[in-house]
Amino acid sequence: MIHIVDTIHKIEVPMACRKVEKMIPLYLDGELSTETKVSVRAHIQHCTKCHDFKKDVKRVIALRGKLDRIRVPAGLTEKIQRTLENSQNKRRK
Ligand SMILES: [Zn+2]
Repeated sequence: MIHIVDTIHKIEVPMACRKVEKMIPLYLDGELSTETKVSVRAHIQHCTKCHDFKKDVKRVIALRGKLDRIRVPAGLTEKIQRTLENSQNKRRK
């Protein structure tokens, strides 16, 4: 039974959230290969968690562009990094 659930999960989530979250900033910057981009997009479409995370990262990136002249408030990048680390730690437990 566990094996069946595991198999279904793999089909529905081709890439681990952890992996996707790390790639989202690159995805938004357009720095991923087409193949990876398609996988990330497919994952986001089915994963609410990663979809919300993408929205957050996008907001920060947009903000960073606007505030380029006066620099990003200290801690903003750190905050994203911490979010990534926290979500990874939670999944590991
Ligand atoms: Zn996900």
